[in-house]
Amino acid sequence: MAHTPNESPREAAATLDLPPTQTGFADTRFFGHPRGLATLFGTEMWERFSFYGLRPLLVLFMAAALTEGGFGLPRDQASAIVGIYGASVYLASLPGGWVADRLLGLQRAIFIGAVLITGGHLSIGLSGLAGPGTAGKAFFFLGLILIVLGTGLLKPNISAIVGDLYPEGGARRDAGFSIFYMGINIGAFLGQLITGFLGETVGWHYGFGAAGVGMFFGLVYYAYSAKRTLGGIGEGPTRHPDAAVQARQERQVKLFTGIGVGIIALVFILALAGVFVPDAQAIGKSMTFVLVGLAVSYFAYIFAMGGLDAGEKKRVAVIVVLFLFAAIFWSAFEQAPTSLNLFAADFTDRQFGGFEMPAVWFQSINSAFVILLAPIFAVLWVSLARRGFDLSSPTKFALGLAFAGLGFFMMIFAANIVVSSGGATKVSPWWLVGSYFFQTVGELCLSPVGLSSMTKLSPRKYVGQMMGIWFLASAVGNLIGGLVGGHVDPEKLEQMPELFTTTTASLMIAAVVLGLLAIPIRRMMATAPDVRSAGVH
Ligand code: GLN
Repeated sequence: MAHTPNESPREAAATLDLPPTQTGFADTRFFGHPRGLATLFGTEMWERFSFYGLRPLLVLFMAAALTEGGFGLPRDQASAIVGIYGASVYLASLPGGWVADRLLGLQRAIFIGAVLITGGHLSIGLSGLAGPGTAGKAFFFLGLILIVLGTGLLKPNISAIVGDLYPEGGARRDAGFSIFYMGINIGAFLGQLITGFLGETVGWHYGFGAAGVGMFFGLVYYAYSAKRTLGGIGEGPTRHPDAAVQARQERQVKLFTGIGVGIIALVFILALAGVFVPDAQAIGKSMTFVLVGLAVSYFAYIFAMGGLDAGEKKRVAVIVVLFLFAAIFWSAFEQAPTSLNLFAADFTDRQFGGFEMPAVWFQSINSAFVILLAPIFAVLWVSLARRGFDLSSPTKFALGLAFAGLGFFMMIFAANIVVSSGGATKVSPWWLVGSYFFQTVGELCLSPVGLSSMTKLSPRKYVGQMMGIWFLASAVGNLIGGLVGGHVDPEKLEQMPELFTTTTASLMIAAVVLGLLAIPIRRMMATAPDVRSAGVH
């Protein structure tokens, strides 16, 4: 029996073969939350372990000289590839959510996603044996493509199942999402420590391999515990009551999936055969237009033909604003695996006694701060609200942008110290630690708030798609973060302060504009229905 959000805890219990006291409100076996959350927490933790474990190694590996075991690519190309990869991972959430809803069901989509990601890591691991030639590159990029496809199936759907564990919604669901966000960051924290150490000190492919082993653990854990703990939740697709329509929809999904995979395979083979030489910067730039075009046409469609009433239109207008400013935020924040990673590698003093700390370890600082600060933020919002300072989501977003701006402001000073020494000085690691601290404070003002705002502001029937739109903002951010990320280069030192100044200015201007917009938005929402439940007031 498929579980639906409307199902009562008692009905859900039947699907899990449990007494009704052990599900819904009453199932408190995982830190006071349903047992299924442990499965989702563990699986997402290992998936993020592998994702964040691999991503920062990519730019260092691809830009490393052939003599150092890398691909010897120019920095701007290597960084743009990381941007395209990160953008594709998040973009794949759109078809991934659709395929799960229409054809596979959430549980199966997550499983297939985990298999594909594990396969992707295996392929990247094999690329090490094949060397830096065409065969090595083929395995390497095939691996990245498999991870993109797999994450598209896993990431949006695992987040959706978290919501489904709490048919009652409310504060307990928010708390469930916070615990889940912790899982993400515990995985990221450990992943980067382990793969960074192995990749930078033992050999690139040991780092890649460790990321793959992590995902394999996630796959095995999910395969073992999903059925036991999730029962019927997310088991089947959302079926159309008319069997003929359902069959037509399934054919459609299969056809489009086939066409999509076919196009990817064709482009991959042509590039490999040397029919065209991909220029990552050029592809990345055109992809930016595609992503922005997608967002514009989606919102235009929803407004014109989505059948929204006046109140819903106002809420979707707020989503448009949040989307835009989130994309600006992520464009700065997602420079972590590119420009800031290169800054750690080249211009940061990482020597502690006789030990040189791997550059990738700096990536873990963000996750560590999330783990430390997330509980404080949860308490902070509630206690502010209790004192009558119930900040609206646009206000929190403006704060997020301003804090990230402070983080990049610090980097201007750090970059100038390097430039004034002609690139000879390595600066103190505290610059990056401070920068990541402010960026993380910004992230906590924006990222979890954004996730829950999507579920609250979106018209009921579009929640899944609006989640996809939320991840589209991350896609834009990854792409831009990659396109500009190569500007940290010992050969072109003068670009560095420029990059951090532009990033700081964009964040600060965005913060001020959104801070001012928050006032009319609040006024507009005051006339919309369900204002309080939407959290924009
Ligand atoms: N760190 C969070 C995650 O990995 C959010 C990242 C993002 O949306 N850009 O899920």
